[in-house]
Amino acid sequence: MSELVIKNLHVNIDGKPIIKGLNLTVPQGEVHAIMGPNGTGKSTLASTLMGHPSYTVSEGEVIFKGVNILDLPSEARSHLGLFLAFQYPVSIPGVTLANFLRTALNAHRKAKNPEDKGIPILEFRKIMKERMELLKVDSSFAGRYLNEGFSGGEKKRAEVLQMAMLRPDFAILDETDSGLDIDALRIVSEGVNTLRNSDLGVLVITHYQRILNYIRPDVVHVMMDGRIVESGGPDLALDLEEHGYTWVKEKIENGEPV
Ligand code: ADP
Ligand code: MG
Repeated sequence: MSELVIKNLHVNIDGKPIIKGLNLTVPQGEVHAIMGPNGTGKSTLASTLMGHPSYTVSEGEVIFKGVNILDLPSEARSHLGLFLAFQYPVSIPGVTLANFLRTALNAHRKAKNPEDKGIPILEFRKIMKERMELLKVDSSFAGRYLNEGFSGGEKKRAEVLQMAMLRPDFAILDETDSGLDIDALRIVSEGVNTLRNSDLGVLVITHYQRILNYIRPDVVHVMMDGRIVESGGPDLALDLEEHGYTWVKEKIENGEPV
């Protein structure tokens, strides 16, 4: 059961509360979007779910596949099937994209089966080529250092390529749309859509409604000041785009339905 359940999550950075009692359930196979203004804690939530050491959880739990993942180190969360596409992917000079992908894939295989000897190189190349074509990533990228000199859009495509290789059960996409022009956005979204299936849960974190035209969510949540303040169907994203975040805030403060 790969449902993700976040209960009363509180997260601090350097002692300052950023996430303040966040509750969220994403059932298996559903795509949920989190929209919210800048600085509201969306990336903090994503990093906390993956176990970034700068973020201190002071309260709450996150249940995935029956375990509280907050007790696990990052790599164990990844082996369990959780994946994060970063808002700001880092470059790793000296490590090629192909090597990085193969190392990650082999670590996953080994976590599942300690006897595993790693994916045969030819099989790996075949799968990588196939997934790169799917995401329209130029084949020369395989031999380039990870994210080194990649444009914003290329970094985002490399993130989704990782997802396509690792085939997680739950993916968090943190502003995967930022820095993408409309063609790149369509390619990346189509890539994500081809990975969609009845088991994969997805949390699409975004500031703008645009990506949700391509990756259609089942549920849209509005996050403000470290909490989910409103949830609704895909139309909620359109209302937000039209009226802005202050509109939601005022409605909530006045006790009106959004
Ligand atoms: P969002 O992704 O919604 O724009 P963030 O989670 O990036 O918001 O940031 C939420 C708040 O936490 C902001 O006030 C930001 O300045 C602060 N913050 C985020 N990361 C750090 C960090 N590593 N060190 C200090 N403050 C941080
Ligand atoms: Mg962010």
